[in-house]
Amino acid sequence: MKVLMKTAKGEGNVEFKDLEPPKIKSDELLVEIKAAGICGTDLHILHDKSHYVPPVTLGHEYAGVVVEAGSDVTDFAAGDKVTSPATINCGVCHFCRIGFTNRCIDPNKRILGVARANGAFARYMAVPAKIAHKLPRDIPFEEAAIAEPAACAIHATEMVPVNMGDTVVILGPGPMGLLILQLVKLAGASQTIVTGIAADQDRMEIAKELGADHIINVEQENPTLKIKEITNDLGADVVFECSGAPPAQKQAFNIVRRRGKIGLVGLTGREINISLDKIVEGELEVKGSWGTLWTSWKLAIKLISLKKLKVKTLISATLPLEQWEKGFQLMESKDAIKVLLIP
Ligand SMILES: [Zn+2]
Ligand SMILES: [Zn+2]
Repeated sequence: MKVLMKTAKGEGNVEFKDLEPPKIKSDELLVEIKAAGICGTDLHILHDKSHYVPPVTLGHEYAGVVVEAGSDVTDFAAGDKVTSPATINCGVCHFCRIGFTNRCIDPNKRILGVARANGAFARYMAVPAKIAHKLPRDIPFEEAAIAEPAACAIHATEMVPVNMGDTVVILGPGPMGLLILQLVKLAGASQTIVTGIAADQDRMEIAKELGADHIINVEQENPTLKIKEITNDLGADVVFECSGAPPAQKQAFNIVRRRGKIGLVGLTGREINISLDKIVEGELEVKGSWGTLWTSWKLAIKLISLKKLKVKTLISATLPLEQWEKGFQLMESKDAIKVLLIP
């Protein structure tokens, strides 16, 4: 089978390879991939900017169908629709044992499509049954492939819960921002504000369609002043930083109200210059969010299948796997929110 592989360290080095379909172990599922999303992580790996262990087939946001279940697997059978997180947590480290499997500390951890486990940009993939989630029969594969980013967005709201009536600001209208926007509305936010830059124009339109009450182009308007105006000088109850841009990370601390909450979802890869006195004086609650928990997936799948979370709007293009380069370019230029590849 044809797989899209990162063959070696360094910039580029992504190409098609011919591999035998994987031979599964007794605790694994052989999954036929029906749709796989391109994630920022795939772009980072292409450009050698994040952790990965080559050679590895890329792709970790997927939905598919079980074609074979290993001999020790009891809860899945051929024909089941499935998806899963990328991280294959070890189950025995301190953090796995206390339930924070998303922060598994095993240095040799396998991550589908990233490290020591081939990913979903291929016709078939081997998935340990312990991490797989069964999908409802009627959920389209394309929508189910968005379950991974949806679960990440849900985990952010697990870390930083929103209360009924809250005014919530979302910095960055990318996939994560647009998913969190929908989630905070479901949680009862009374007012939502999404900020972005001029290049985010199309994404801002979608934020509006999804019900954002205000959108702010930070290149045209001062977000701090604008949010003060909207909140009668109080500031936002909750801010989610989803852009991964250093200026936005800094802004979060200027637009949150005293005793407010900040959820940091985006990574900048840089240090920013900010006085932590803001946290002391404001009695702020600042939390990071990383990956997903079992609970995040259960809710993601439920909300997608009930169509409470509108993920179809986020799929800008669906391309055959052969056109991966076009897909990667669409994501990189921000001309697409999510691109799905079909092996
Ligand atoms: Zn991802
Ligand atoms: Zn672990």
